[in-house]
Amino acid sequence: MPITTKRKIVLWSLWMLIVPVGLFLVYKEYPPAEMDSWNLFAYLLFFIVACLMPMNINGSSAYLVQWATVAVFLKYGIIAEILFSQLTVLIVTLRSRTAEPLSFRIPFNSLMFFTASLLAGFAFYAVGGQVGSMEIAHVVAYGLIFQFVAFLANQLIFYFYDKSAGADPKFFSVDVIWDFSITLLVFPYALAIYISESYIGVPALLLLGIPFFIMTAIMKMYNSSEKINIDLKKAGEIGHQLAARLSTEEVLDQFVLQVADLFKADYAYVLDFRDKQLQMLRMYENSQLIKNTVPPVHYNQGVGGEVVTTNKSVIYDRKSEWKDIVTGHLPIDTESIMAMPIARNNKTEGVLILGSRQKYAFTTRQLQILDILSTYFAVSLEKASYVERAIAISERCGLTKLYNYRYMDAQLEKQMVKVNNHELTKLSLVMMDIDRFKGINDQYGHQSGNDILIQLARIIEEEVGEEGTCARYGGEEFVVLLPNYGKDLALLFAENLRKRIESYPFAIISDLDTERKQQTIHITLSIGVSTAPDDSDDGMALIRNADRALYIGAKQAGRNKVAAYAK
Ligand code: GH3
Ligand code: MG
Ligand code: MG
Repeated sequence: MPITTKRKIVLWSLWMLIVPVGLFLVYKEYPPAEMDSWNLFAYLLFFIVACLMPMNINGSSAYLVQWATVAVFLKYGIIAEILFSQLTVLIVTLRSRTAEPLSFRIPFNSLMFFTASLLAGFAFYAVGGQVGSMEIAHVVAYGLIFQFVAFLANQLIFYFYDKSAGADPKFFSVDVIWDFSITLLVFPYALAIYISESYIGVPALLLLGIPFFIMTAIMKMYNSSEKINIDLKKAGEIGHQLAARLSTEEVLDQFVLQVADLFKADYAYVLDFRDKQLQMLRMYENSQLIKNTVPPVHYNQGVGGEVVTTNKSVIYDRKSEWKDIVTGHLPIDTESIMAMPIARNNKTEGVLILGSRQKYAFTTRQLQILDILSTYFAVSLEKASYVERAIAISERCGLTKLYNYRYMDAQLEKQMVKVNNHELTKLSLVMMDIDRFKGINDQYGHQSGNDILIQLARIIEEEVGEEGTCARYGGEEFVVLLPNYGKDLALLFAENLRKRIESYPFAIISDLDTERKQQTIHITLSIGVSTAPDDSDDGMALIRNADRALYIGAKQAGRNKVAAYAK
């Protein structure tokens, strides 16, 4: 739900009405016990340290300040507890990083804690609780009532708030159980500090506080190294997955998807740095890859440009840090950015940019993991491009760059399967052979023959366009495979091609001529056509039939002719 200005105004008005006035009334009704200022100062310090050192439980921060607030309550009464709680609200709210604005969270959290403090305090007084009591059974019983009501009030407020915001909250969720466990865990601490402080004064705070805070610090370190281990493990898995991809397109897709997922990015982009430009290669927004619509920008522009020119990674925690340099595409609600160069052999080849709608979404620790990932990425990309090149070479004829015999045979088999499955209703194969090509070689030299083959390949490719596949099938033989072409259409295609070749001026420079000047010559084609399923339902037979038509129907009939296979 968006937090509108109206909501904020309502919230602040409620806050003004309730908190200061409530505080005054409580002060009148329940004046605090006499306070020793040193003692109070020590509590306050203790308290601030507790707020600044949240414990990491189950991946989220847990503030165990309750053990101080309950102690303060038992010692000084409700007004002190309210003030301490409000201070907690302020520190914790300022420290936590969420998308909601502070101008909303501060009054909301303050009101919530205020209400919980009031309810818990009143419950304590109502059932006969005594502030400052040193009778252990009394302190335990009434202290528990105080904590229990505070806990309940907190949960109820959250529950009704979520409900009013349109969510469907569960009253007994895992979070609630966690909260309750923490409340129980903290209570003996609160008692211990209250009682020992009453006997020995301020040193009690040190006695209990020092081991507690050291424990918290150790847990924090353990948690963060645990988190690094988990992320490193994930990075390793992603690396293996990337390395298994054999096409550059797949490597790119996988990298963007996996990295966005690992770092919980809302937006992810890969830019290619080439010819002094940054060109968008992949765009990931709202949990999916989207069509790339962004035109290239000059290499020094935007966040990507900054990364390319400085060759350094950057992290921005909030919009105000980057809004002056951005030129490109980043969505309006982006706050945090993490960007890093993608390098190969120490040369920057591109940039990865991650964006989040949250402030402070990325950390330098993540950047280190991203660095490892981008190395995996660059290596996988290089490997995939070698594989692609090797495949391309193995599928093509080196001279004409058309597909070769091997590729055509495989293609023919695939298409025949479709014909036999009835996915494809017809398939025609056109085979052509240059007439008296040996004579041309003899007359003008082998190089001229090669030049003709190259020019002929371009013409065939042009005639076929997107309609089919062309290959150089042998020395001066070419094959065109035409899905969806029946015999008549294929014959028409062949006849047009024959006519075009017959009159086409092929440019050559004769090796055998002493002057070596450019001249044009003419060639002719003999062409055979066969069609599936009419003539055959087998790929090899389709080739044989076309070959037969070519030799009997065209070559033997005088050359420069088109012939269809006839059973
Ligand atoms: P026809 O097909 O009309 O019967 O006569 P032809 O002279 O074309 O037939 P043949 O099959 O006897 O000769 C084919 C010639 O094609 C042999 C060879 O000199 C030439 N040839 C095959 N591959 C190449 C090539 O890669 N480059 C060049 N320049 N010539 C080639
Ligand atoms: Mg020939
Ligand atoms: Mg031949």
